[in-house]
Amino acid sequence: MSAESAPTAGLRALGSRLDEVEEALARLEEGSYGRCVGCGAELPAELLSKEPLARLCQGCRPPLEAGGDG
Ligand SMILES: [Zn+2]
Repeated sequence: MSAESAPTAGLRALGSRLDEVEEALARLEEGSYGRCVGCGAELPAELLSKEPLARLCQGCRPPLEAGGDG
């Protein structure tokens, strides 16, 4: 539990990313991929092409990433 070296932290970050990928693939098999897990709305193809791991529509995600015109 001492300070982690940077390479290890990077690997851990990839591991959590991998979890997201596996979850997205599982949803793809179920047929729920591309739907918002919050409200069930279909996610825009544009969003999925930018963020294939997106799970929430813009209405359901916190307004953290809101940058320009909303
Ligand atoms: Zn939603």
